[in-house]
Amino acid sequence: MFPPFANEPYTDFSDPAHAAAYLEALAHVRRQLGSHRPLVIKGEKVDTGERLMSLNPAKPSEILGTVAAAAPAQADLALDAAWQAFPGWARRRAEDRAAVLVKLAAEMRRRKLEFAAWETLEASKNWTEAEADVAEAIDFCEYYARQALEFAKPLPIHAFPGEINQSWLQPLGAGVVLPPWNFPLAILVGMAAGPVAAGNTVVIKPSSYTPLVASVFMEAVESAGFPPGVINFLPGLGRAVGDYLVDHSRTRFINFTGSREVGVRITARAAQIHPGQQWLKRVFTELGGKDAVVIDETADLDAAIPAVVGSAFGYQGQKCSAASRLIVLAEVYAEVLERLVAAVKAIQVGPAEENYPVAAVISETQHKMILRDIEAGKREAQLVIGGRAVDRDGGYYLEPTVFAEVPPEARLAQHEIFGPVLAVIRAANFDEAVRIFNGTEYGLTGGLFSRDRDRLERAKREFNVGNLYLNRKITGALVGVQPFGGFKMSGSNAKAGGPDYLRLFLEMKTVSERV
Ligand code: NAP
Repeated sequence: MFPPFANEPYTDFSDPAHAAAYLEALAHVRRQLGSHRPLVIKGEKVDTGERLMSLNPAKPSEILGTVAAAAPAQADLALDAAWQAFPGWARRRAEDRAAVLVKLAAEMRRRKLEFAAWETLEASKNWTEAEADVAEAIDFCEYYARQALEFAKPLPIHAFPGEINQSWLQPLGAGVVLPPWNFPLAILVGMAAGPVAAGNTVVIKPSSYTPLVASVFMEAVESAGFPPGVINFLPGLGRAVGDYLVDHSRTRFINFTGSREVGVRITARAAQIHPGQQWLKRVFTELGGKDAVVIDETADLDAAIPAVVGSAFGYQGQKCSAASRLIVLAEVYAEVLERLVAAVKAIQVGPAEENYPVAAVISETQHKMILRDIEAGKREAQLVIGGRAVDRDGGYYLEPTVFAEVPPEARLAQHEIFGPVLAVIRAANFDEAVRIFNGTEYGLTGGLFSRDRDRLERAKREFNVGNLYLNRKITGALVGVQPFGGFKMSGSNAKAGGPDYLRLFLEMKTVSERV
């Protein structure tokens, strides 16, 4: 029915024509700034008395727009709408649901640079990072559309004399989608498209830092032709409406990606049964990381250094997969540190709109917290480069920062900072490197640079992370190619973009008929 899945290609912005197209997209988005955007419940636009303000992290005095903020009353309406839409959507043939998702992908592809430009302004992603995020969102729709067809096939069960036995997978119902701001389109779209492709309906509560990107996505949902109520849009503060949605007796499943703190809170709250609740909620929580790259004495440092720099400082280190620890074997420690510092010195910091490699971090709160972590880090290790705020237009800029001689148990090496801060740790030998690598409560991504085949094989067996990368950067998992999700406190290992993802939002029914 559909051509085979292929990842959406990236644009080369070194081509002047593509760069000009991006500038035009930014200008187009700038002309739309200052608007107010509604909730969407049952396909209808709803305003509330409250509003969320979206600020430009590169220039926080600039208000990009406002979005209506939901209260519990609207959360009730959104869940009602999702449940009303559920039977009709669930009964549709998988092919028909998949076709709507493919239309949604086409709509985002048509407006790809416009979506990316919104991300540049609202999330402070440079052109490449922003466009990659839109490409990933498109990939999720295309990939899950095809996976829905797989899950609709009859299940292989054995015959039994005198009976007709059948088992099939069916959707769960109405669920809540709680995405983070750092992939404001890709993660939001993936976490909604998976359940919806499987026949469920959803209420999306976007991050309060990136409600505009999410709201523009709802325009694409409308154009794609989803029946009213299948995808509802409920911006609002996590603390105001998030707990309410999580606790709600009519929430069938919760699909969350975000911090460890909120993920743990959601897991605990969702385990409580409330009056009228008829099920155990399914809860998926994809959380943070303290991701490490190991460099040994056999490694190709020409490849390793740029890969580490890209993994640590791409999107200002604000990726769950970002390298925040670099573990270096003693033989090459001095050389690696010297080359690393030289590479970091060359990184320019400036506005995402002007496509700087490192731009502003997301918020004032995050900016302050990272600076606080850097100050505390100075008591634990040697600050070798960076460490200061960069003053430009009041934006939330920070210098790319490297600490050396970080003790493996130090807070710098254990706590997720979620900013452009890299902790370099010395390991006496490879055994010690393995221990340090695994010595945090997280287990999301990680990598090894080595030319030693035995060590590469050991890393495959012993590095305890959900996504391991050998001799390459540790960020940028591709949908359908590198299913993504971690171990330990990094979450429930949902493996977004993987062949089992839709199964999470389905339950199996078995029918036996005596003949
Ligand atoms: P966050 O503060 O935990 O927020 C995530 C989402 O949860 C937001 O929509 C937030 O809404 C909402 N929320 C906040 N409090 C809530 C509550 N009590 N009940 C229900 N929802 C609530 O995380 P973040 O700062 O947006 O994202 C950064 C974190 O995400 C990092 O730790 C990063 O490692 C992790 N992450 C993990 C993955 C992965 O795949 N493992 C991918 C990306 C990011 P508000 O914005 O309104 O507070």
